[in-house]
Amino acid sequence: VPDSADAVLEGLDPEQRAVATALHGPVCVLAGAGTGKTRAITHRIAYGVRAGILQPATVLAVTFTNRAAGEMRGRLRQLGATGVQARTFHAAALRQLQYFWPRAVGGALPRIVDRKIQVVAEAAAGCGLRLDRGELRDVTAEIEWAKVTQTVAADYAAAAAKAGREAPRDPAEIARVYDLYEELKRDRGVIDFEDVLLLTVGILQDRPDIAREVRAQYQHFVVDEYQDVSPLQQRLLELWLGERDNICVVGDAGQTIYSFTGATPDYLLDFRTRHPGATVVKLVRDYRSTPQVVRLANGVLGQATGRAADHRLELVSQRPSGPEPRFAEYADEPSEAEGAARAIRGLIASGVPAGEIAVLFRTNAQSETYEQALADAGVPYQLRGAERFFERQEVRQAVHQLRAAARFGGNDALLGEASDLPGLVRAVLSGQGWTPAPPAGSGSAREKWESLAALVHLAEGFAAARPQAALADLVTELDERAAAQHAPTVQGVTLASLHSAKGLEWDAVFLVGVTEGMMPITYARTDEQVEEERRLLYVGVTRAREHLHVSWALSRSPGGRPNRRPSRFLDGLRPGSGSAAGARPGLAGAGGVEYGTAAGGADGIRAAARAERAVPRRTRRTVARCKVCGRTLTDAGEMKLMRCEDCPSEMDEGVY
Ligand code: ATP
Ligand code: MG
Repeated sequence: VPDSADAVLEGLDPEQRAVATALHGPVCVLAGAGTGKTRAITHRIAYGVRAGILQPATVLAVTFTNRAAGEMRGRLRQLGATGVQARTFHAAALRQLQYFWPRAVGGALPRIVDRKIQVVAEAAAGCGLRLDRGELRDVTAEIEWAKVTQTVAADYAAAAAKAGREAPRDPAEIARVYDLYEELKRDRGVIDFEDVLLLTVGILQDRPDIAREVRAQYQHFVVDEYQDVSPLQQRLLELWLGERDNICVVGDAGQTIYSFTGATPDYLLDFRTRHPGATVVKLVRDYRSTPQVVRLANGVLGQATGRAADHRLELVSQRPSGPEPRFAEYADEPSEAEGAARAIRGLIASGVPAGEIAVLFRTNAQSETYEQALADAGVPYQLRGAERFFERQEVRQAVHQLRAAARFGGNDALLGEASDLPGLVRAVLSGQGWTPAPPAGSGSAREKWESLAALVHLAEGFAAARPQAALADLVTELDERAAAQHAPTVQGVTLASLHSAKGLEWDAVFLVGVTEGMMPITYARTDEQVEEERRLLYVGVTRAREHLHVSWALSRSPGGRPNRRPSRFLDGLRPGSGSAAGARPGLAGAGGVEYGTAAGGADGIRAAARAERAVPRRTRRTVARCKVCGRTLTDAGEMKLMRCEDCPSEMDEGVY
């Protein structure tokens, strides 16, 4: 913990310091990936609190995901500033709604609908429409878009046309489904995630007394990832702010990746117009990535067009030189996954911790192939980030049993065998079916095992730090961590969608499936949609601190027709596609063909495909798994909006 407020500023460069010390009035930071935007605002809050200028309870920091909120709270704690609210828009709104609902409306807040898509399906049926799963998802997305842009059903068709939305059905039909969907929710006394924001906005608009109370509580606002704010979130922010202007926003228009949900970088880019006296700071030093990674990132963004591209800022790496990014081509997806798993094993063997490695993909449906390959290679992995760790069923059950064991002592035969704390924890968890070695294969059993292993690991660390501690002390520690959403680190390779990787960083990043059809994804049709896909690749590239592997497969399954080609966004950037740099050492293994190496070219690919076909392999299903409830969906196809249809996972997916 820094010993003074000034010491908090020491880890910042002059521009970041300007952000941190501008504690009053509007502040806007426009800067590219890895330039320390999040760091600057975190230190800004910590500096203000430590200097006694900001009261922690009056600061509301809005982040994009629960995970980011948890990380910010953790960093604030390390900087000696506690008690600051760091939340997503949704979490902040939900809290206010729960608190004020009884007074504003009466009774308890309606429950949040479990299976929204089910209700949309019923509404569609009620309108005489038969929609398949994909169409249902698209129609649901349209309803969500309408709600975050505060468009009522009667205005949907006109608004969608104006916004250039490519409606998946006749807009008049969508409007009818939307209308009936709202009615069904009302009848059942449930609300959806958009309603949480809409209702909060409604209450703050209609009840000046409540708005006054909220404004008395929150006096300083900080918003991260402001380029992806939706009109509804912006409205909420304005209501929170009232007549005041103590607001600091940071963002990178080049990382706008949620405009399909109605988010827009316009609020970021027009901030100065709305707040003429604003302090505007630009950051260009990239502290995250090596010059090699930064060169590729600049290359990806260099070809961008559109409004965000006009505000492009060339990044300048501050880090020492590192390895060149690697590009590898495979015959099929399983070979690509095996190639990645092998390379990951190599990195781990060379000393990169598994927790510092990520595999990032475009759709959650791609995940399973990588789970399988990592499990086969004996590499630990995690599908979900640290968020909501304590809400996972297996973790709750484990904490419950640990509490019971702490309370009622060791009359269980299992517990009698263990005297040290980690042993006790292992014994209790083994009653839940946990084993010291991970289960074979991938899937939810493996995931549960990883969660419980993280608890054991935490107990080991806890016991090492406090040798006298009893099980009850550990349970208290777990309760405190749960309250602070302070999850233990699950040591494993992260498997995540590009959308959910926003704002995060790893030593090594594997960008997989970088083909036409995936990036840009097939349903990206308009120029704007394609540009958003390009920005998604930029987000992916800029997650890497040092090692970056970019790969693609020419066909989907072994023996399939090689009918895919690498993403157009790599043209001119990857070796073998025009002006790109020369040969790179290849990824290890038979399936992979590195561009520019002797093994490359069509012959190599065909040979690799033949070799792959000769090896019998397990049948693989295409599945998608919800990151929140863990439900596995067979034949889900592409989960377009990357969210589960069976649980309200939007909050964790980071859309809101
Ligand atoms: P993104 O756009 O991806 O969200 P960002 O601009 O928010 O990126 P940060 O995550 O704040 O960037 O910072 C990127 C990395 O650089 C972090 O590891 C951070 O600790 C480090 N960093 C930022 N500023 C400095 C600095 N002045 N000195 C040393 N390290 C820094
Ligand atoms: Mg950030």
